[in-house]
Amino acid sequence: MNIGILGGGQLGRMLLQAAANYDVTTHVLENDTNCPAAHLCHHFTLGNIQDYDTVYAFGKNLDALTIEIEAVNVEALEQLEKEGVKVYPTPAAIKIIKNKILQKQFYQTNEIPTSAFHITNMQTDLIMHVNFFPAVHKLGEGGYDGKGVQIINTEHEIALGFNGPSVLEQKVSIAKEIALIVGMDAKGETIIYPPAEMIFDPVYNLLDYQLSPARLEQKQLWKAEAIARKVVTSLQSPGLFAIELFIDTAGDIWVNETAPRVHNSGHHTIEANYSSQYDMLLRILLNYPLGNTSPILPSAIVNIIGSEGYNGNVFYEGLDEVLGMENVFVHLYGKKITKPGRKMGHVTIISSDYQDLTHKANKIKHTLKAIAK
Ligand code: ADP
Repeated sequence: MNIGILGGGQLGRMLLQAAANYDVTTHVLENDTNCPAAHLCHHFTLGNIQDYDTVYAFGKNLDALTIEIEAVNVEALEQLEKEGVKVYPTPAAIKIIKNKILQKQFYQTNEIPTSAFHITNMQTDLIMHVNFFPAVHKLGEGGYDGKGVQIINTEHEIALGFNGPSVLEQKVSIAKEIALIVGMDAKGETIIYPPAEMIFDPVYNLLDYQLSPARLEQKQLWKAEAIARKVVTSLQSPGLFAIELFIDTAGDIWVNETAPRVHNSGHHTIEANYSSQYDMLLRILLNYPLGNTSPILPSAIVNIIGSEGYNGNVFYEGLDEVLGMENVFVHLYGKKITKPGRKMGHVTIISSDYQDLTHKANKIKHTLKAIAK
């Protein structure tokens, strides 16, 4: 069985690690020979995942194809699907999710709760919606990792908005951000992982660390699970999906966005759940029975981000100390060069005690640094 991954980042790298457990030949397409996944696959192809001819040529002799990022050439995937290549998630699902306007309209059509919105084409269109502020302006396509997302609190901030097709969403008064991972196989059977909750740094508003299972009331958990499942069954696509939800200060739950792929919020499932998100996606691609999503122990994830003021060959300060901690698992992505803010790796902690998780997460954040020497 020949399996292809579009994109060779850290998610692709971890998918390949899980693939080593199965009898598959792996192929990766990425435009950088030093990408995290390049040296872990059987066949690496250098090329642009957004180019029709490149994606088509890469996929045409494969049995199954998946993605680790949604910025891919969907038209080539549609053609490959027509010719009998198994493409999970389906090109139709990627098309909806890839564009934030289509994604919002999809939630609305399927009666999935999401914040109210308007569509804009020019920054000046925002003038028509001053009564809608405070709002969040999101570029339809091309945004990534918070770039392409802008909070607009008042009419004086209109100049911060985007030119080009975008959505203007009502700003949710967020009490908690959670993410759920749902898998669906070709028969339409679904599995769901316990939600993860994001803990933000109140000063920098950056993701500080993540805890899973999220601490939720039973009713909120059921509601969140029902919404996440509905997103995937409405997309009608086999594959693995991460659904990011907001719980607002009134306790209501809204879908923020969906990723049609393995996701950062599921890194912990390697050590903390019986079947990891990566193993699960492979089972789905290979038509094997779905795995067990139950947690073995609660977990936390701390990201290793390139420290401010350092550019160059990476050196991990404090690595020995962190590796010496109990039930702590370090994952480095094999990136040679560090830059401020670059994601270099993550650390998973497992423990039956949430206080222990929080304590260790803070310790690791202050001990392990990606710097340049
Ligand atoms: P990206 O696709 O770049 O990850 P998101 O759409 O997830 O961007 O937005 C990034 C962050 O901005 C969210 O995690 C959340 O904290 C904030 N945000 C996004 N949409 C809203 C909203 N409608 N109301 C309030 N905050 C929001």
